[in-house]
Amino acid sequence: MKIRKDIYLAASGRLGFDWTHPADCNVYAVDTGEGVVLIDSGTGLNTAGLLHHLAEHGIGTDCISHVLLTHLHADHSGGACEIRRITGAKIAVLQEAAPILEAGDEEAISLPQAREAGLYAQDYTWNACKADILLNDGDRFDIGNYAFKVLHTPGHSGFDTCFYIRTSTGDSLLFSGDTVMYGGKISMLNTYDFSMLALSESMKRLAGLTLDVLLPGHGQPALSRASEHIETAHSIFSKLGIPANFSG
Ligand SMILES: [Zn+2]
Repeated sequence: MKIRKDIYLAASGRLGFDWTHPADCNVYAVDTGEGVVLIDSGTGLNTAGLLHHLAEHGIGTDCISHVLLTHLHADHSGGACEIRRITGAKIAVLQEAAPILEAGDEEAISLPQAREAGLYAQDYTWNACKADILLNDGDRFDIGNYAFKVLHTPGHSGFDTCFYIRTSTGDSLLFSGDTVMYGGKISMLNTYDFSMLALSESMKRLAGLTLDVLLPGHGQPALSRASEHIETAHSIFSKLGIPANFSG
């Protein structure tokens, strides 16, 4: 599904467009002119569907050059291993998160609890995946017509990463993962590495960006006035409150 120039939606689950596997996050694709960059990989439970949606736009498996992971929760990273195997894409992840991904450490991403909660089938497992590119906060990742700025924005989990790009027409886009959703909602989880304080600090940082387009990990995107959504969350945090929880 084409969202705007060079930007596509490739997968989305029940908390979004209910298009691929119900548990999938939103997976976006950016056609940089020198390779297609995926933002997140989905659960891996319907990678064929994800790839099919891109093929419908003429984006074949050989075009997919990179997968940038916003965080390691299985709905975002579970498909990385298979996409890497099928397409040869390089997997890019925050440096601190790479050992967890490479070890397939399910405890570190709270997958046993998520399975127990029924968010995943009992037989769902997380595949270890090699991290080809290690990202650090503040890095600029240049490919084709785009430069992705890497922002480590912990809170929803320990290793959340947002990716910020400016288009040739001057628009600013943020792939926000699960850090902030449409309407300024946040995604609270009763997990060891969720931190409201860290999330409020991350929101403060994002509120300093001028943003036109917000492309979150679940739910609907905002294709204009994206700063308003961040500001909603930041304003509530700055009054010592807690923004609304995103629950679909
Ligand atoms: Zn998450």
